[in-house]
Amino acid sequence: MSQPLITVDDARELVLRATGRLDGERVEILAALNRILAEDVAATGDVPPFPCSAMDGYAVRAGAARRSLTVIGESRAGTPFEHELSEGQAVRISTGAAVPSGATAVIRQEDVECSGERIEAMTPTTEGENVRPRAEDMASGSIVLTAGTALGAVELGAAVAAGAATLSVARRPRVAVLCTGDELRAPGEPLGPGEIHNSNAPMLAALASSCGAVADGGARLRDDRAATEASLADSLERSDVVVVSGGVSVGPHDHVKPALAALGVEEVFWGVALQPGKPTWFGTLDGRLVFGLPGNPVSAAVTFSLFARPALLALQGVTASPAARRHARLGVAVRRNPRREQAVRVRLDYQDGATVAVPNGPQGSNIVSSLLGADALAMIPPGEGEIEAGARVALEEIPH
Ligand code: AMP
Ligand code: MG
Repeated sequence: MSQPLITVDDARELVLRATGRLDGERVEILAALNRILAEDVAATGDVPPFPCSAMDGYAVRAGAARRSLTVIGESRAGTPFEHELSEGQAVRISTGAAVPSGATAVIRQEDVECSGERIEAMTPTTEGENVRPRAEDMASGSIVLTAGTALGAVELGAAVAAGAATLSVARRPRVAVLCTGDELRAPGEPLGPGEIHNSNAPMLAALASSCGAVADGGARLRDDRAATEASLADSLERSDVVVVSGGVSVGPHDHVKPALAALGVEEVFWGVALQPGKPTWFGTLDGRLVFGLPGNPVSAAVTFSLFARPALLALQGVTASPAARRHARLGVAVRRNPRREQAVRVRLDYQDGATVAVPNGPQGSNIVSSLLGADALAMIPPGEGEIEAGARVALEEIPH
């Protein structure tokens, strides 16, 4: 590969520039879990919708201690007291129940003495005490959740509190995973001479799923030009994103690039100044994205994380700001690559308030075991010699 390599940042920028937005679809609340919100959610009414009690006790007019009050009824959660309360009166009230009109405070149950239909207030009360004002949490019309938010448990709860019955979420990107290589065998299949198990297929499909995509299981492709072209054509037909592993280098059995070219997929870049991941290829066809990732499992995981993941998120309306990128101090010196940025699998530790990154074992692009338990990728800029312990480096996420 002799053409100039582009930087990781430039490559990612090109990917994001080519990435559009998928439509939204309306789903029931629970079906929106782990999806990306496509439209803002505004409160359809005030929350709470009425002034209500923060305590179990008695609704009263605020006033001095040592007052004797007549209990004229009860306001329960869901069953308000319907009459007006006057001076000298009290209404028994539960937490969350509507404060009756005329009342300006709630005195806690612990702060009264009861005798029959009368109570004595042992403490003074001030206006608004133990009363949750209407709209204290959400005002009608205010934006509670913004488009692009990842919907977790509390977001679903907040949406329903705000009045939503369904949510508009981004359609899940459809991802086809194709793994090239005559040497590949299905999980558990006995291996013949020179064969290995197709570990990229489940890994890439799972990585895509963890980015919100619907991914197929990962078809295996023989190193054959016609078969490669036929499978790619089929995948392009039914997917938003095609992820191909292997076959993008310059070997005599690497058929992915010519097959994609024959199908009209336009090359955006091939070759990134990245270790591991140099032969990464990216192209587009009518808004569909094609990632040609190197076959080595670590290279495939790293390049998926750096390039395909941001694209899958952007398709769903999530754009990460560079300012949100995390950093760490290197715990040990790391040898640099003179020409390529290195993505080093690291464990993160927290020492004296600082995040410290330590390589998680040998860094060969075939060593899957050092991806296990890795918390992130530490990005080491190219250069001569070593980058010293304590240097500040940017971190990239590895989706799990
Ligand atoms: P390639 O990019 O096709 O030249 O493959 C580079 C290396 O990755 C070779 O050692 C392949 O055997 C290995 N490899 C390719 N595809 C896979 C796969 N799907 N699962 C595991 N290893 C793979
Ligand atoms: Mg191969």
